Amino acid sequence: MKIGIMGGTFDPIHIGHLLAAEAARDAHALDEVWFMPSHIPPHKEDAGMTGRVRLAMAAEAIAGHPSFRLLDWEVKRGGISYTVDTVKELKEVYPDHSFAFIIGADMVNYLPKWNRIEELAGMLTFIGVNRPGSKLAVDQLPDFLQKAVVTADMPLVDISSTTIRERAAAGKSIRFMVPDRVYDYIVRSGIYGVQP
Ligand code: ATP
Ligand code: MG
Repeated sequence: MKIGIMGGTFDPIHIGHLLAAEAARDAHALDEVWFMPSHIPPHKEDAGMTGRVRLAMAAEAIAGHPSFRLLDWEVKRGGISYTVDTVKELKEVYPDHSFAFIIGADMVNYLPKWNRIEELAGMLTFIGVNRPGSKLAVDQLPDFLQKAVVTADMPLVDISSTTIRERAAAGKSIRFMVPDRVYDYIVRSGIYGVQP
């Protein structure tokens, strides 16, 4: 099976993440996409919502999609989540699957700074999707990464989790920026300062 991994902090998960995963699945005939919230991402200082809450929101977001699954490994492992460690484990547990890691343009440009990136690039492909604010510039990457990155088109979605958290804290609506089920979870849990 060809598996796409959609990694992220997902604080909260939003329609940009879901469209990226669906675009990658569609363009590259992925059998499944596994959504994998990180515990503590290497590039972020503030932990934000707990792993449990971010996993729960991701579960709500993907409910009903026949080929989207949730992978709780990084949250369960704890500590700083290095993709290279997780992918190594994935390949041990699922030796017959091939893996592609789905990332937005901002992360594509950041790839050279990822932990043990040469090792990681030898284990999977990356599927880069366009995202407003960052040019999807595969040709600017070092050679070994250019070989490891393919792209998928998606409708530009100018939404980030940061914008959503800021809007919510300011009392502005975040409806439809996250799937309805995620919105209901947020309201029910009273998180991000969203009032019913
Ligand atoms: P934050 O503002 O907290 O960084 P985020 O919206 O960037 O949140 P992340 O959890 O950091 O979300 O991102 C996970 C992955 O999803 C990254 O590869 C990121 O590039 C990608 N991604 C997030 N939002 C979009 C979007 N609107 N369009 C395309 N890709 C996206
Ligand atoms: Mg981000």
